[in-house]
Amino acid sequence: MSIPKSHSAQPLNSLHSHWGAPPWHIDFAIRNKPVPPSVDFAIIGAGFTGLAAAAWLRHLAPEKSVAVFEVDRIGAGASGRTGGMALAESAAGDLPSLGNVLAGLERILAELDIDCDLSLPGAFEIGRSKGLKNSPIQWTDSGTLRVVKKVPGGTLDPGKLVAGLARVADERGATIIESHPVTHIEWHRSPVVRAAAPLVVHAGGSRCSAGKILFATNALALELTGLAGRAEPKLTLAVLTEPMDEKRLEAIGLAGGNPFYTVDLPYLWGRCRRDGSVVFGAGLVDADDSRDLRQIDITTGDARNLFESIERRIRNLHPALREIGITHRWGGPILFRENWRPVFMPHPQSRNAIVLGAYAGHGVALSVYLGAWAAEALLGRRKLPSWGSLRK
Ligand SMILES: Cc1cc2nc3c(=O)[nH]c(=O)nc-3n(C[C@H](O)[C@H](O)[C@H](O)COP(=O)(O)OP(=O)(O)OC[C@H]3O[C@@H](n4cnc5c(N)ncnc54)[C@H](O)[C@@H]3O)c2cc1C
Repeated sequence: MSIPKSHSAQPLNSLHSHWGAPPWHIDFAIRNKPVPPSVDFAIIGAGFTGLAAAAWLRHLAPEKSVAVFEVDRIGAGASGRTGGMALAESAAGDLPSLGNVLAGLERILAELDIDCDLSLPGAFEIGRSKGLKNSPIQWTDSGTLRVVKKVPGGTLDPGKLVAGLARVADERGATIIESHPVTHIEWHRSPVVRAAAPLVVHAGGSRCSAGKILFATNALALELTGLAGRAEPKLTLAVLTEPMDEKRLEAIGLAGGNPFYTVDLPYLWGRCRRDGSVVFGAGLVDADDSRDLRQIDITTGDARNLFESIERRIRNLHPALREIGITHRWGGPILFRENWRPVFMPHPQSRNAIVLGAYAGHGVALSVYLGAWAAEALLGRRKLPSWGSLRK
């Protein structure tokens, strides 16, 4: 008997439709599977971080059992809603022993045989002062925006990356369980059992004992990760233009496929897609906590005003954009730590659980790279980095 698919390939995320529809297509359907009574490793959250960790765990240690619990669908959080700029280092720049994030991403994708249209022609840092004389970009936006520097980076298709990671994790035997919110963990507080006893994950009304847990929920479920009040969740916004022909892309300086982001304020980032459409992003909507974040409706209040502002700015950037049509508007969750470094540390309740996330707007390449690192840490083959812990 064939196992029924839980859904067909989905362009939209169900729980978060009030965050708008991103343009990416996640072409992989998860097969319904029951919650296993016990696993070696439980991963909470099926974005880039959680799926990369699951795929890498099964790649390195096929004898270990892995379950991924997702409240919604794979890619329902930032990963299916991102811009897909693949950036080097972290939002805080390079970090001790971080290594080469982009080379690491390329190696992980090659080893897992994932094609997500990764292209690394370099990213443009753009700014209103110290622009290069021969800058391909000359835009009007609170001054004149020009390329200041070209740095390592590029783009990928986030829908293909989510689908690819999920496919590899699934094919190699990880159990991915959608529509299963993790509501709480039994931590075994007794000092006698703490070291040896498994942790118990409660998800969607089922229980699963786990030897170790990775929390990969990023800006969501902060009450579970112990990050509530210690890191700031926000909804960040993006739009997609209608496709442009080569001549128009040439005129605005984006024909080379280089993504761009400002190094001064007001902030603006973006990237071209294969069909000539361009993703532009700017603007953050504040949220007190992850529950508050979930309630944001992008068609009202601050978000609506921010979209009006982004679209006005885009049409004023260059005469070639004056009449440009906008086909998609959407938002997604991101998490900021005070010093812009990712959080990558043991959970405050147990050394057998790891919390990984808070990449700010710099998590596409980094989440896959650190997701694989987390897999190695769960297997006891690698230490967590010193920069990943929050101050007490
Ligand atoms: C609009 C936007 C544009 C961006 N652009 C870029 C960019 O161009 N370049 C770049 O480097 N970075 C960018 N980022 C950041 C980057 O996308 C994120 O850092 C990255 O996707 C984080 O991946 P993640 O897997 O850690 O988190 P997420 O993708 O958010 O995954 C967390 C998952 O956990 C699930 N979850 C939450 N609570 C529970 C629960 N209780 N139980 C089970 N599952 C749960 C969620 O549904 C979600 O699927 C952008 C982010 C946004 C929102």
